[in-house]
Amino acid sequence: MTTQAHYPIGTPGVPWGEAEVATWLSRQHVKRSYEADVLRVIEPLSSRYDVVQYGSLDYHPDKYPLFAIKSRSWYHELPCALVTGGVHGYETSGVHGALRFVDKHAATYEGRVNLLVAPCVSPWAYEVIHRWNMHAVDPNRSFRDGSPAHESAALMRLVAPFRDAVLVHIDLHETTDTDESEFRPALAARDGVAHEPGEIPDGFYLVDDSERPQPEFQQAVIAAVAKVTHIAPADRHGEIIGSTMVAPGVINYPLKRLGLCASITGAPYKTTTEVYPDSPRSTPEQCNAAQVAAVCAAIDFALTHREAASVKR
Ligand SMILES: [Zn+2]
Repeated sequence: MTTQAHYPIGTPGVPWGEAEVATWLSRQHVKRSYEADVLRVIEPLSSRYDVVQYGSLDYHPDKYPLFAIKSRSWYHELPCALVTGGVHGYETSGVHGALRFVDKHAATYEGRVNLLVAPCVSPWAYEVIHRWNMHAVDPNRSFRDGSPAHESAALMRLVAPFRDAVLVHIDLHETTDTDESEFRPALAARDGVAHEPGEIPDGFYLVDDSERPQPEFQQAVIAAVAKVTHIAPADRHGEIIGSTMVAPGVINYPLKRLGLCASITGAPYKTTTEVYPDSPRSTPEQCNAAQVAAVCAAIDFALTHREAASVKR
């Protein structure tokens, strides 16, 4: 079934121009604080880790500095593990899961892998609780040369020197009820196309790379997360959000072609987590714990299988 959503901005069938983007922006309001929730959590980590500012959002240079956390001891003979959260700012557990991983678990990887963690890639969107940046651009379709999203371009610049040393990259996301109630209709309206209603899966799932799938790696992550929260089943079509479920809790996307964050390194092991925070069967605490379990399982698997991956350094 295809229906034209009556999104309150723009004309059905006509892509947004500057006026519609301005109207959309005028309806966005700060609902939570990047400084209080993220920067004040990062600050004390600087006693144990290197905290580096890798840019700031050009539209609010004072308000939205971009920070990453690195292993203080950086061994060039070791591979690198990259963790990214908050590429979609509204996806709360990605941000807090990344920060919790650093606080509680990063030390256990000291001397085994160099860690690079960017916990909140899109801080304006964190504050207004949205998918897009201030220019109505989705950072997670913008990881490509000449990116239209400053959030994406800044992260790509940060990662560029390590790109070929990254063994494993975990990009932390959520799939929420507001995807279907707000963000997908907004996307269709922005692009002047019809909104096709979809289903939101109840549970955690992963997105692998259809160009270079790593099914055993994905299942290792699923197994670890299943101890914390439930894994999404396939719908009646054998799909999760419109893609064939290729293994329990796993779908594949062409990461590079879609400009997704998980495509920004040459890592042989990469995955995108999708936590479901709106389930009656899960709590915010479980969502954060699921992200942390995914990160640890992904790094553990990659380190165990690193010879098979033959990473350049
Ligand atoms: Zn996302």
